[in-house]
Amino acid sequence: MNVYLDNNATTRVARKSLDAMLECMEDYGNPSSMHVLGQNAKKRLMDARMQVASFLAASPQEVVFTGSGTEGNHMAILGSCALNPGKRHIVTSRVEHPATLALFGHLEKQGHRVTMLDVDEEGRLDPDDLEKAVTNETALVSLMWANNETGVVFPIGDAVKIAKSKGCLFHTDAVQCAGKLKIDLSRIPVDFLVFSGHKMHAPKGVGALFVRKGIRLPPLFFGSQERGRRGGTENLPGIAALGMACRLFMEDDCCERIGLLRAKLEAGILESIPFARINGGGTERVPNTSSIRFGEMESEAILDRLDKAGIYASSGAACAAGGNQPSHVLVAMGLGKAAEASIRFSLSRYTTEEEIAQLLGILPGIVEQMTGRMQ
Ligand code: PLP
Repeated sequence: MNVYLDNNATTRVARKSLDAMLECMEDYGNPSSMHVLGQNAKKRLMDARMQVASFLAASPQEVVFTGSGTEGNHMAILGSCALNPGKRHIVTSRVEHPATLALFGHLEKQGHRVTMLDVDEEGRLDPDDLEKAVTNETALVSLMWANNETGVVFPIGDAVKIAKSKGCLFHTDAVQCAGKLKIDLSRIPVDFLVFSGHKMHAPKGVGALFVRKGIRLPPLFFGSQERGRRGGTENLPGIAALGMACRLFMEDDCCERIGLLRAKLEAGILESIPFARINGGGTERVPNTSSIRFGEMESEAILDRLDKAGIYASSGAACAAGGNQPSHVLVAMGLGKAAEASIRFSLSRYTTEEEIAQLLGILPGIVEQMTGRMQ
């Protein structure tokens, strides 16, 4: 039996999401067409928008469908800069997703000033640092809600309050939070929030951007769709699947069960490999993610052996994994050499007790074989 523990890279599409996609492919109209086929498609688009809106506790007009999490983040960040041409300062953190950091690097070259907030050894962000960093020149505060490598949750409620009190826009990359924590935007007044289908049992190539009512976000792609905010014929099969994934989470979020399985995984590893440590284990994390460091061992060598045993995990972000760079997230947490010795196990609603038992049956032996350090 293969064991898939790399759900922060991507997830299996839920059966009901797949069914929703197939229906849209068979009933293949374009939502902009006036005839019956088009109107059927329009109805499906509206239904999916309602599902996403209620998943976020937002209104349907505040939901813009996108082609990915990356696209939504780019729309929110570039749009915020365009809305505030006179303010050229952005505050973010050192541990954002690599694609977002690359955009900030690009903006710096264009003359923006970007302040990167540090995190502590648990991956925590201190709201006081944010308070000090924001000035009258700040156009945008952009912080991820949950970290993709460690699962550490940032204090988004406090951060939004600070940004609002200083009159700047607030964007959150919730790609690793959606489907793992309940999001209630009626209580947390972010201006922009982004999430992605393939991290929560919908397919790749679809995401959603929340834009708070009253903000006229300029488009990256021009056209009439999405009320002029994102041109291009809608990916209706993907959108319907995303709506269904949101509905499945609302019906049964599985968070408690996933958290219990992660607790078993971590207890089992710590017990059998006494020098193992959990990155960010001392603070709030999303329930599915466990980043574990193994002394000074090379994670790639452990992963290779796990892979051969049919167990799939990762050393960090899927797009950075495979490169030889130590994770920028773990380096920012001051982990030094241990940044290269960390493995991320990420669970989902489909992870089973048996899969965790299979991992725990194999991993200690691999580590023992590689080090001879077991007791
Ligand atoms: N933000 C975070 C925190 C992520 O983990 C990812 C994907 O790994 C993204 C953004 C990018 O999302 P997408 O793959 O949909 O472009």
